[in-house]
Amino acid sequence: MPQGLGSRLVHAGRDDFRTLGVHCPPLDRSTTYPLADLDAGGRDVDRLAEGAHHADSSVYGRLHNPTVARWEDAIAELEHAGGAVAFGSGMAAITAVLLAVGAPRRHVVAVRPLYGGTDHLLTTGILGSRVSWCAPHEVADAIEDDTCLVMVETPGNPTLQLVDIADIVARAGDVPVAVDNTFATPILQRPLDHGAAYSIHSATKYLGGHGDVTAGVVATTPDRCAGVRQVRILTGALLDPQAAWLLHRSLPTLAARVTIAQSSAQVLAERLAAHPAVVRVRYPGMGDSDPDGIVGGQMKGPGAMLAFEVEGGYAAASQVMKAVEMITPAVSLGSVDSLIEHPAALTHRVVDEQARDEHGVTANLLRVSVGMEDVEDLWADLAQALSWAELGDTASDDEEPVGVGS
Ligand SMILES: *Cc1c(COP(=O)(O)O)cnc(C)c1O
Repeated sequence: MPQGLGSRLVHAGRDDFRTLGVHCPPLDRSTTYPLADLDAGGRDVDRLAEGAHHADSSVYGRLHNPTVARWEDAIAELEHAGGAVAFGSGMAAITAVLLAVGAPRRHVVAVRPLYGGTDHLLTTGILGSRVSWCAPHEVADAIEDDTCLVMVETPGNPTLQLVDIADIVARAGDVPVAVDNTFATPILQRPLDHGAAYSIHSATKYLGGHGDVTAGVVATTPDRCAGVRQVRILTGALLDPQAAWLLHRSLPTLAARVTIAQSSAQVLAERLAAHPAVVRVRYPGMGDSDPDGIVGGQMKGPGAMLAFEVEGGYAAASQVMKAVEMITPAVSLGSVDSLIEHPAALTHRVVDEQARDEHGVTANLLRVSVGMEDVEDLWADLAQALSWAELGDTASDDEEPVGVGS
């Protein structure tokens, strides 16, 4: 068993390939499986319904799929978790955790900022839960008799706010803590190592990494895994085997993708901070964004996501989104190509406006997911786009930006 992270990324979930005589994961698209022995089949149904990791027969596609299970095993290994459960989206994964901890009719404590969809899911109470929002140091006071989960995200979407996971776990006491680990990936951060009960991903982002798969995954302890799997069986929020196959294919390059994008993000963050059209940069690799020294400890590196505020408010931010040429103006993140988006108008549009303002999701904030393009090309694109922002309110579509030729 290789121990190095790079080796594990290449071989995780593939340990039995030689026995099987294959070189890439078998893709099993079966919706049902032959059951010659009725007694054995019935026992397998029982085991899977109780949330077992596998049974002799998969019985039915909603109960178990071998291709999906391989990718889950790989994620569990990378997250230092007892197991992992895959879903059709990140939101389905978060919903399953809430249902597994019994959130309906109960209370959840959550730290803002969270991904807009998660914030909305908790705020609307559509699952029947109540939420108390609080700062990290207020978690213990926010816990009530029926609190079933503490939910945090670090780095937080979209402001890259960092949370000390071990500190939250200590404050949460007996209440399980779920960490949305989408931005960090298991390459940079493993929440279970710091006492979290659940590490949740939108695998649509870095784990997929190529903008072509929508998926989610929950990594947790074996007993909690059974509960999450039961929810998946009952609610049917499955990951398609083809998508799992693509996710498994993306895994060997995860560290390379994150590391390359991260080194470009550090350069871009520093240059943005020195740019006259930029008011403020939020990037975990810059001292003022990491007052508690999370980077280098809990989080091995600052990551490849950054956000910045432009001079000139919404109008200027909107100009920058319009002016980028190589960088794609689009929501989502973690892909090989760089993306830029406006959180207040797009991903966090559903969040209460006052809460957005309080947590820095302002009208002049842009979020960049740095991809694998050459850093000088990325900087050239951002710099030419920012020259449009410097025109401010006077800019119109047919004007040339200052200092940039056609
Ligand atoms: C995108 C995202 C989600 C939601 O994931 P989907 O795959 O879109 O359902 C949850 N958390 C974070 C941090 C995200 O960026």
